[in-house]
Amino acid sequence: MLRATNIDSLSRETFDVLVLGAGINGAVSAAALAAKGAKVALIDRGDFAGFTSQESSNLAWGGIKYMESFELWLVRKLCKSRNLLLRSYPSSVREIRFYTAHERGFRHGLFKLFLGTWLYWIIGSFFTRIPRLLSRRVMAREEPLINLDGCDGGIEYSDAYLVDNDARFVWGFVRAALDRGARAANYVESLGARREGGAWVTRARDVLSGRELAIRSRVLVNACGPFVDAHNALTGQRTGHRHIFSKGIHLIVDRLTPSRRVLTFFADDGRLFFVIPMGPRTCVGTTDTRVESPRAEVTPEDRRFVLSNINKRLALPRPLTEADIIAERCGVRPLAVRDGGGGEDWLQLSRKHAIEIDRTERHVSIFGGKLTDCINVGEEICAAAEELGVALPRPGERWYGEPGEEVRRAFLERARALDLDALAPPRATEKLSERLWRRYGAHALGMLEEIRRDRRMADALIEGVDDLRCEVAHAARTEMIAKLEDFLRRRTRIALLLRREELARSPGLREACRILFGDEADQRLAEYFEQPGERAPAEGAAPVAAPPVE
Ligand SMILES: Cc1cc2nc3c(=O)[nH]c(=O)nc-3n(C[C@H](O)[C@H](O)[C@H](O)COP(=O)(O)OP(=O)(O)OC[C@H]3O[C@@H](n4cnc5c(N)ncnc54)[C@H](O)[C@@H]3O)c2cc1C
Repeated sequence: MLRATNIDSLSRETFDVLVLGAGINGAVSAAALAAKGAKVALIDRGDFAGFTSQESSNLAWGGIKYMESFELWLVRKLCKSRNLLLRSYPSSVREIRFYTAHERGFRHGLFKLFLGTWLYWIIGSFFTRIPRLLSRRVMAREEPLINLDGCDGGIEYSDAYLVDNDARFVWGFVRAALDRGARAANYVESLGARREGGAWVTRARDVLSGRELAIRSRVLVNACGPFVDAHNALTGQRTGHRHIFSKGIHLIVDRLTPSRRVLTFFADDGRLFFVIPMGPRTCVGTTDTRVESPRAEVTPEDRRFVLSNINKRLALPRPLTEADIIAERCGVRPLAVRDGGGGEDWLQLSRKHAIEIDRTERHVSIFGGKLTDCINVGEEICAAAEELGVALPRPGERWYGEPGEEVRRAFLERARALDLDALAPPRATEKLSERLWRRYGAHALGMLEEIRRDRRMADALIEGVDDLRCEVAHAARTEMIAKLEDFLRRRTRIALLLRREELARSPGLREACRILFGDEADQRLAEYFEQPGERAPAEGAAPVAAPPVE
């Protein structure tokens, strides 16, 4: 309903700015512009955060690895961005310790690395906990999972991570843009745009219905991530930057260690390699391979690389095999290079973003970037829009961050009165009140009211995950779920926590589908299981059949 209303408005109204692409860069652009008073539209040809921004390592980090290439200014900038996220999102972006094993003979000695973490901590304004030098004895006691063969000690330092998933974080900005009057729609593709009478007319197509529409805007922001160059070719934009692509994959397996730390190693190719907590699971990766196309897939070699590195560095009761993989993630990092560049040392290529403004055509392109730096991107896009003549009547308006302490207190008081935490499913890994606040902020107050009226709204619906009936109902009403994957993979991370076979057997999923799609439940469910999953079934396994919705 919300989507249909928004698509209608897209073709009827003229916007100050049309943002193309709703990954992190497009979502923050829309949220910032809408809060500051611009009339904004946002479209994506897939789901919100359905491309690169759902494939990250979920870290908000100050770029410790750029210390090695002495890009200290970039490190300072990223540390400031990380600190701002930590301050602004105290429940959804949290500090986490990185526990790093050091192998004898590595290109930098242990003590030098330890000094590096101190410098990193100082550059980061002492914002996090202090780094520690670890002896083998301490490591054996604190993280017995680490294989200490060939290791002469380690270091522990802090960075931050997104407690839910990256795509949910992006959705928060889309939601904020919508709350401030922006018109946003997923599954609407730009087919190209041209200037007409001093404005942009973008020819777009509703991917789900096939209907074409024209969207008029004064300014066009190209936030198509890895497809920025392709879209610029459609509009005839010439830019000084272009993208090259680095593929990265992650494998998700059962939880490997009870500790809430990121275990860090240097992989066989010398790059940092992580074992990252992901609720009841562990996410392992990543890789860094230059590829030509943005549409990358996990290859058997990728899987072998990650599994062999992890098996070498952890003292597991038995080595991990492909059968242990619950889900996979694969994406390309769009790296901004100056035209003619890209021949530099691949692994040393930095991940700075670049924004190019075409003043004559009133067009903006966003190249590269990181989730970590998203607030800066939002601010820079507002400055660019102003430069192109868009009036921002509320220039100082705060457009990011969790709701204030007063709202949180009101929520917690009502949650206590309802004895909400006692309603959490027995296997829940955290307090229900914490989880609902983090995921929905002020919108969680409405859920409390629903639970007060009907306790069944607090039932966990899908076997093996914590999501409640009232959360599914909320998603159905307000989170623009067009396909089941939008819900399972991006508004929640259920598809990363459960195997497809488990989902296919779940009666709870069928009920969720009825809530999400009403009469179309059967069709959406069948569609989901017809698509190849992100984790193809192991060889010889039976194909996953779509369960009927009774
Ligand atoms: C493996 C990996 C690990 C990473 N880890 C981290 C990390 O830990 N921390 C961090 O900060 N960053 C990390 N990053 C980087 C970060 O994820 C990306 O830089 C960021 O998500 C890119 O966002 P984006 O908005 O530019 O692109 P995208 O998220 O790809 O968004 C672009 C959108 O444009 C849409 N689009 C394209 N063409 C059209 C069209 N014609 N019409 C309409 N829409 C269109 C696409 O569908 C897409 O949704 C990682 C990246 C990878 C690949």
